[in-house]
Amino acid sequence: MPPEKPQWKELYSEVVTGGLCTGCSACIIVCPHDVLKYEDSDGIYKPYHLDVDGGKADCTHGQRGCTLCTRACPRFRDWESEIDLFMHNRNRTDDEVSGIYRQVVLARTTDQTVKEVGQDGGVVTSILLYAMDNDIINGALVSALEGDGSTWKAVPTVVTTKEEILKGAGSRYTYSANPLAYLEASNRGIDRLALVGMGCQASVPAALSAKKAGKTSKRFVLSIGLLCSKSFNDAIFSELFEAKYDIKRETIKKMNIKGVFQIWCNDGSYHEIPLKEAHQWTREGCKSCPDFAAEHADISAGGIGKFLDWTLLVIRTQKGEDIINDMVEKGLIEVKPSDEDPAAVELMDKLAKVSRKRWPESAASSVRRHIPVR
Ligand SMILES: Cc1cc2nc3c(=O)[nH]c(=O)nc-3n(C[C@H](O)[C@H](O)[C@H](O)COP(=O)(O)OP(=O)(O)OC[C@H]3O[C@@H](n4cnc5c(N)ncnc54)[C@H](O)[C@@H]3O)c2cc1C
Ligand code: SF4
Ligand code: SF4
Repeated sequence: MPPEKPQWKELYSEVVTGGLCTGCSACIIVCPHDVLKYEDSDGIYKPYHLDVDGGKADCTHGQRGCTLCTRACPRFRDWESEIDLFMHNRNRTDDEVSGIYRQVVLARTTDQTVKEVGQDGGVVTSILLYAMDNDIINGALVSALEGDGSTWKAVPTVVTTKEEILKGAGSRYTYSANPLAYLEASNRGIDRLALVGMGCQASVPAALSAKKAGKTSKRFVLSIGLLCSKSFNDAIFSELFEAKYDIKRETIKKMNIKGVFQIWCNDGSYHEIPLKEAHQWTREGCKSCPDFAAEHADISAGGIGKFLDWTLLVIRTQKGEDIINDMVEKGLIEVKPSDEDPAAVELMDKLAKVSRKRWPESAASSVRRHIPVR
């Protein structure tokens, strides 16, 4: 029997319509035949195949041997184990529910401008600025708000300047498929990229490299992950915030999630909305996601812990560690050991366990071997 060559047909049946697709967009950015597109309206955040060359559920290029979309996908079959092995030369142990890492620290920026716009400690923004200044990258794929920001529509964006990086700072809790901005970066010849995104996206660079998905893999040099248990559909603005709390999206200045949805408005008012009220606007693509801690990033960042305005950093690779050490040495960030807030690491592991249990039993993958029994 010739070796199996899984292509869009398998990706469509096992991942896209099989309930595993996060909408990360990796399959689209690697497709050399331009037959995959992205649907992001009405709460749908998914790839689809144009009605040509095999149609919705198959692909004639795949029939002829193209397998790039399945090789890019960080949810196809044994993705987790394949990427762990590629990144760390070993599989994780059952205790490593938050993925394999070298160290966890708490950090915050020392730059006053970044402090003002950053979500927690402003560290992700500081890393991007450092990586640009030191010529590690020549661009980054982040999320920014469309237009003047009044619609709160989060859009994948290429940033190459300090002003653009600062504009993308802060968190939006609706989905922005940041890898999709690769297509623009590629057209502009930007070829040393950092990717910022939740776990579903932060796994993309390592998935591309682990499964040798062509030239695209070589253009990602840094992956910065965001801890994440869910994102929401855009409809939450009109159907919950406005309909029940009379908070119009154009009046919102900042949002955060710390046990509750926190919303600050331009008129100085502050609102708290219980998270359970927001559950019904959970994005479909998050419901099977097992990755809370952005397990395949070089550095993962989150806002849990008792120190407000600090970022919890999970440093996973040598590259990530070198960057953080050099930033500390240059006084760009300050850090303290995670021992100063052990409950934060415990909470990360607890939330990681909750997420892992979402991975469906029907999904044939090594992921289930690491689902904790308690
Ligand atoms: C949808 C979502 C859910 C999250 N859930 C949790 C959680 O449950 N627990 C937790 O500890 N932390 C969570 N975080 C991470 C947290 O909100 C901060 O992003 C993190 O602590 C880094 O803070 P910072 O100040 O260092 O980042 P900043 O310096 O402010 O940089 C944030 C970066 O995130 C990017 N970004 C913002 N919104 C999005 C988006 N919607 N999609 C993709 N990229 C985006 C920005 O472009 C920017 O580059 C979540 C983030 C997001 C976007
Ligand atoms: S998870 Fe990402 S790569 Fe996989 S099918 Fe969905 S959008 Fe494509
Ligand atoms: S829970 Fe977060 S990491 Fe998982 S698919 Fe949703 S947005 Fe991505």
